[in-house]
Amino acid sequence: MSKRKILWAPWRKNYITSGETSKECVFCMKASSDKDRENLVIHRGKEVFALLNLYPYNNGHVLIVPYKHTSDPMQISPEEYAELLSIMKKLIEIIKDKMNPEGFNMGMNIGKAGGAGTEDHIHMHLLPRWKGDTIFMSVTGGTRVMSESLESVYEKLKF
Ligand SMILES: [Zn+2]
Repeated sequence: MSKRKILWAPWRKNYITSGETSKECVFCMKASSDKDRENLVIHRGKEVFALLNLYPYNNGHVLIVPYKHTSDPMQISPEEYAELLSIMKKLIEIIKDKMNPEGFNMGMNIGKAGGAGTEDHIHMHLLPRWKGDTIFMSVTGGTRVMSESLESVYEKLKF
């Protein structure tokens, strides 16, 4: 991971200079903030919200997150799962329309052993894929190419 280079990442400078030192849960912080554009929050539902991943694996990498702070998938109610899936479905529709992907990855990483980056607060990844896309490159070449800025993706996917 440490050897991976990001060829074009205009948002990283902002992140580095903003000095995020808080130990507070990043999802709870963004959920309770009203700076949705700054936080890349693209949609707010009743129990669930959606935002762009600040460190996307690919253009259009979104996270769909229950407001409830829990690491345990059993603590999420059927109603919360229903809303999560309905937001995911809507985002698939928007991504298909705006970004013409050739496939998707979707799923949750639960716990450190499951690969969760933010393990205290459960979240669903939704990731558009293209044949020969950046993930393929990152696996084989150690280089990740971002062809589109987060701001541009934000404009496309906000609903
Ligand atoms: Zn939280």
